Amino acid sequence: MATFSFQTGARYTRVAVLGLVGMDPVPKWGPWVNGYFQYRGAHFIFCNVGGPGRTGHNYPNEFVGDDLFWTGKTKSRRAHPSIQRLIAPDSEVHIFFRIPGWEEFAYVGLARAVFVNDECPVGIRWRFAPADDEDTLAQDVESTTSLRPSSEGSMTTVRVNRYERSTAARAQCLAHFGTVCQACGIDFGVFYGAHGAGYIHVHHHLPLSSIKQSYVVDPIRDLVPVCANCHAMIHRRDPALTISELRALIRDARSDARGM
Ligand SMILES: [Zn+2]
Ligand SMILES: [Zn+2]
Repeated sequence: MATFSFQTGARYTRVAVLGLVGMDPVPKWGPWVNGYFQYRGAHFIFCNVGGPGRTGHNYPNEFVGDDLFWTGKTKSRRAHPSIQRLIAPDSEVHIFFRIPGWEEFAYVGLARAVFVNDECPVGIRWRFAPADDEDTLAQDVESTTSLRPSSEGSMTTVRVNRYERSTAARAQCLAHFGTVCQACGIDFGVFYGAHGAGYIHVHHHLPLSSIKQSYVVDPIRDLVPVCANCHAMIHRRDPALTISELRALIRDARSDARGM
């Protein structure tokens, strides 16, 4: 059980994260505000991904599939105690990323090191824990995406594919689109208040049958945030509805209801 929790895909300033983990006063300088630090037994990594950050340096960090390839500080090495603590199997490592143009960092998730090289600076391949909450309803399926009644009878299970469950892909998709349903516009944080904040499904546009072995998900082109209801409606037909087809159905139903 992690000490701290953050919302995958939500954006935070570094200062906000320091405040959330309980630093008081929030430091304005030092290791806290560049790169990574340890606090109350947990590790926090802030990294720039996919291009130059605001300081103009190039940070060689990138998402590859479900993983993040990350490079440590200039003189870091695998043997250093701080890196050893970071890559220990029981470490609690929270990773935040941003792309050029963003002021804030988006949270990805809890990560563990799956590969560490022996170079200087050290390179680590991070893998993320699978997405939680909505995915407790979801089944992992390789070949089909369909609906079926669950054993509880009343609950409908949306069977999602591995791309919809990838924490790294979800984080990039939600950091880009936010957590408002792109079909009907519901925002769980508005409708249900704080209890619903950040809750959303992620739908993968492409039918799995059309995907080649070499396919790598593009979290912005291939994934879209949708609410649980819209996700179920999308998969109620096989082949699945597109987002624009579902938007049109919602629009038509609304105008029918108004008797237009
Ligand atoms: Zn919706
Ligand atoms: Zn889906």
